[in-house]
Amino acid sequence: MNSQNRINRRKFLKLGVAAGGSAIAMTAIPINLVASDEVAMDEPLAQAMGYVKDAATVDTGKFPKRAGEAGAKQFCNNCALYAGEVDAETAPCSIFQNRLVRGAGWCNAWVAKA
Ligand code: SF4
Repeated sequence: MNSQNRINRRKFLKLGVAAGGSAIAMTAIPINLVASDEVAMDEPLAQAMGYVKDAATVDTGKFPKRAGEAGAKQFCNNCALYAGEVDAETAPCSIFQNRLVRGAGWCNAWVAKA
């Protein structure tokens, strides 16, 4: 094996690693393509988190975080964990493994966008 073959083999291996890395990166990017199903309000985690599709229906006795004037301004679409545009009807939420939640919804993990 001459030195030119060794260099070519090294280049080939580097390209293979780069191609594999690109394939991994491509599978990680489209988060909204992975999130295809919407969270149902009767799921155990949704119930534990107080998730509702319509924030106006939150039981503020049970979830006082959404009570009062400041609480009434809390919606999924202005939560830091809502991975979508503010006017998107639904978007992935990391609390629910990036499944879809309603922009008009709410849960007790709500955090203001920075
Ligand atoms: S964490 Fe935020 S975006 Fe996710 S369900 Fe709760 S309020 Fe909605």
